[in-house]
Amino acid sequence: MGLNARLQAHELYRFYHAGEDETLALRGVSLSLLPGETVAIVGPSGSGKSTLINCLAGLDEPDGGWVEVMGQRMTRRPEAMRSRLRAQHIGILLQSGNLFEHLTIDDNLALAQFLAGTQRTPRANAALAAVGVASRARAMPAQLSGGELARAGLALATVNQPAILVADEPTGEVDSASEAVVLELFRERARNGGANLVVTHSDAVAAMADRVLRLVDGRLQDG
Ligand code: ADP
Ligand code: MG
Repeated sequence: MGLNARLQAHELYRFYHAGEDETLALRGVSLSLLPGETVAIVGPSGSGKSTLINCLAGLDEPDGGWVEVMGQRMTRRPEAMRSRLRAQHIGILLQSGNLFEHLTIDDNLALAQFLAGTQRTPRANAALAAVGVASRARAMPAQLSGGELARAGLALATVNQPAILVADEPTGEVDSASEAVVLELFRERARNGGANLVVTHSDAVAAMADRVLRLVDGRLQDG
């Protein structure tokens, strides 16, 4: 694993308990993400992709193993430290629920900038323009189409120009025009040294990735 890894996971384990049942969602997953690299994670439904993304982003704590962000340990640190690492370094795009429903698109971005302590303008406008939704800045999330919502979520995830972007099926339910916009944003970030980790079912996304990792039953397959 490279010393300059943006994001590093070492032997992640995650178990879920429901009564007598135990689900082993992650069984020893290690990976590292380098600057300028786009890594795709593929695998069947239920293989642990979302669990992995949540652990890597510090939204969930693994039961075993650890995650380092920009060389700093995030796992089993106080929530205040984890949220600071997240706000400063990680853009997160989940399958849904990325935007606060009671705030306009613009105010959602303003809040993200406030939390990260970054400058208000002109980055928000640029982030919205980069994904083609600048004209929807004053709209509420519920007023956007599925493709627009996905692109606005991506603008939110990237407005602070995070070193790391983790995305869970960002092109899952979007039209091909939106998918092209998302792909171009990944490329642009990678050209500027950003690191992208993306869960996807899309052949186009997998094809543009530098590496494709396959998750099956909570384990990464070789090769
Ligand atoms: P994927 O994103 O690849 O579809 P997930 O990470 O969502 O897979 O889920 C991996 C496994 O963990 C599945 O068997 C799922 O049912 C289980 N799981 C995920 N989240 C929870 C939870 N909060 N409680 C119990 N089981 C869960
Ligand atoms: Mg999932």
